[in-house]
Amino acid sequence: MSSEATPDERAEQTTETPPETPLDTARHQLNRAASYIDIDPNIVERLTYPTAVHEVTIPLKRDDGTVEIFNGYRAQHDSVRGPFKGGLRYHPHVNREEVMGLAMWMTWKCAVVDLPFGGAKGGVNVDPKTLSKDETERLTRRFTNELRNVIGPQTDIPAPDMGTDAQTMAWIMDTYSVQEAETTTAVVTGKPTAIGGSKGREEAPGRSVAIVARELLNYYDYQLSEATVAVQGFGSVGANAARLLDEWGATVVAVSDINGAAYDPTGLETHAIPSHEQEPEAVTHYAEETISNDALLELDVDLLIPAAIGNVITEANAADIQADLIVEGANGPITFIADSILADREIHVVPDILANAGGVTVSYFEWIQDINHRTWSLDRVNEELETVMIDAWDAVRHEVEARDVTWRDAAYIVALSRIAAAHESRGLWP
Ligand code: GLU
Repeated sequence: MSSEATPDERAEQTTETPPETPLDTARHQLNRAASYIDIDPNIVERLTYPTAVHEVTIPLKRDDGTVEIFNGYRAQHDSVRGPFKGGLRYHPHVNREEVMGLAMWMTWKCAVVDLPFGGAKGGVNVDPKTLSKDETERLTRRFTNELRNVIGPQTDIPAPDMGTDAQTMAWIMDTYSVQEAETTTAVVTGKPTAIGGSKGREEAPGRSVAIVARELLNYYDYQLSEATVAVQGFGSVGANAARLLDEWGATVVAVSDINGAAYDPTGLETHAIPSHEQEPEAVTHYAEETISNDALLELDVDLLIPAAIGNVITEANAADIQADLIVEGANGPITFIADSILADREIHVVPDILANAGGVTVSYFEWIQDINHRTWSLDRVNEELETVMIDAWDAVRHEVEARDVTWRDAAYIVALSRIAAAHESRGLWP
């Protein structure tokens, strides 16, 4: 193959299967879930496409005075059960197809935990590590301006995702509020608590992953106090899940960041290892023994939690996974093909749309607090999160037992049944 070939030419020349996009995966999963239930095919056809995809260009004045243009997106998938809801990510790979797929996942995620929201996702194709704080602020405020007619507290409510955080949400809330001449806290969730953010929101996705892991281990008769766990990713989701499971008695043998994993077969002191937020990319500096991220995924543990990025378990390594159980912390860490290899090998996988739904659940609590101008205690947030997660777990478990399907199929069946019922009740207009 000529080294001068363009990326498109190289893609044509290669015999390898191209990587699955989140949209491919989301559509496969939709069709698979639809095959189990009695659903109007017109509703499935409608759900194959987003309601809208907003695409904008964002001029950013860099600190050196030059101007660079970035692409921004907001995909709104379905709002039959309530306003569009979902994160905004800043990542160099963000593109139209990716946000379309991720928006579909948000529709299923909100439905599986029975929140009155639909699904959306957006972002900017920028590497946030290359931006100064001032540049990130200017980019965020200009992006918010471009989305002014798209987002709103009753229409579409963004939240943090990869590469964005509470500060990003604060700038969005401020920009929107100034433009509307009205402080509108409920336009985004995942804000700092000083401006209407909820206690417990930051830890919520990791907490729900830990709750689901606890239930899954219990379901398959593992004692939490004897279970071994490996966690890929030590950002908000991975670190909080690992630390909670550690506190509840599990033995966390490996945690990782982009540089590799800290490994101790007798159990790591997870609180002594800084999370990405505390000290970025420092996990391996705090380890006596390190292994690679690939080796972490293939450890012979009771439970594996991929909580870093998408597509880490693919057809290339699915046959080498040794864990008995997997709980997805990240969005889409397992490709559709890898998923069926794992199912054939009887490795039980709880999907992202259930496991990490604690994030959007506490976003919902935040939105309710903002609308009502009330503040909930951390105990109340965590108690209500536990109730929502256990109700969702029970609904999914019921489908696993009633239909003898995987946990992923069961979660999609629960979500799709609720969405289909709402579409049937509302009908199509005009
Ligand atoms: N970005 C998070 C997710 O993928 C949270 C979305 C939200 O809170 O709206 O679930």
